Amino acid sequence: MNPKIWLSSPHMNGNEQKFINEAFNSNWIAPLGPNVSGFEEDISQYLNEGTYVAALSSGTAAIHLALIILNVSKDDIVLCQSKTFSASANPIVYQGAKPVFIDSEKETWNLCPIQLEIAIKDCIAKGNKPKAIIAVHLYGMPYKVDEIHTIASTYNIPIIEDSAEAFGSSYKNKKCGTFGDISILSFNGNKIITTSGGGALVTSKKEIKDKAVFLATQARDKSVAYLHSQIGYNYRMSNVLAGIGRGQMTVLDKHVKLRRKNYQFYKEALGNLDSVELLNEPQDHFSNRWLSCMLLDSNKSREALRLEFDKENIETRPLWKPMHQQPIFSNCKKYINGVSDNLFERGLCLPSGSNLTNGELDRIYSVLKSFFAFS
Ligand SMILES: *Cc1c(COP(=O)(O)O)cnc(C)c1O
Repeated sequence: MNPKIWLSSPHMNGNEQKFINEAFNSNWIAPLGPNVSGFEEDISQYLNEGTYVAALSSGTAAIHLALIILNVSKDDIVLCQSKTFSASANPIVYQGAKPVFIDSEKETWNLCPIQLEIAIKDCIAKGNKPKAIIAVHLYGMPYKVDEIHTIASTYNIPIIEDSAEAFGSSYKNKKCGTFGDISILSFNGNKIITTSGGGALVTSKKEIKDKAVFLATQARDKSVAYLHSQIGYNYRMSNVLAGIGRGQMTVLDKHVKLRRKNYQFYKEALGNLDSVELLNEPQDHFSNRWLSCMLLDSNKSREALRLEFDKENIETRPLWKPMHQQPIFSNCKKYINGVSDNLFERGLCLPSGSNLTNGELDRIYSVLKSFFAFS
């Protein structure tokens, strides 16, 4: 059996070890320390000078804290993109609030502005105005930032920008992770850069960063004794893991280039087939191509191709199953136009790691070649 080709595996460059050693040598093996502030500084500089970053234990924790900071509580409504990973939606439930799922549009596979506005008007008419909107840049493709943010500001609803999959992407030359009232990043093992597990909350307001750090460190009031007037969380990133992050920051743009090159590889292999669609970049959208994805002509062909890859020990995966189809969210309200259901039927995520070798790409190519019988 050939060795496994993964969908998206961690890609270390060697610099990580240097920062980890620094943590060990200075005995900063704690959830704070020079690597944590250094990593935050690196991210902030990458995004732009005006951002404040709180490094946390996960992207999920960042979404949870964002909801708390926006005062989302019991029975509040939060509108959430349905086509996403469950981590976008779970924290809404942690707060006792109600997720309402919104379908996608076809151009970016993200929040549909039409369904979003229908949902907002509907909720307002029923006397429960949504407290927040969670918008996702799925697979690294920026959502329709101008349209979505115009709607949000018309109705004065804050946006939590889930940029977990889109670090390194941009819209109109502005980096993803800087558009939300609060934005979040993830450094989980499969993301474009990783700290093995980790995330960040990004904001343009220092008070929001301070609040996030306060909540993430058990909400300890300023006092010599341990004084608490609010419920806190243990969500801070450790100084050891932040060291991995600092090393990874030095190769983020390289990873974006390599992942975009993978997409070009698929585009050249599949771009001329009538039975296949790839996700093009609309004008002004720059995707980090975290995952390259394809749509086949039917669910049957999608499954057939997935099984062909599987036979060759190559991991592929259907696109995210929409949240409105998940058993756990079956009672939630939804505004659906059929797009995300259709994408789920026909879509396949292809191996996309920045560390794919030419030999691995050859193996992928030969599966595609025999499946589609191209010469
Ligand atoms: C990975 C991911 C998250 C959660 O990040 P973790 O760091 O794994 O908690 C949230 N939203 C999306 C869209 C993701 O892909």
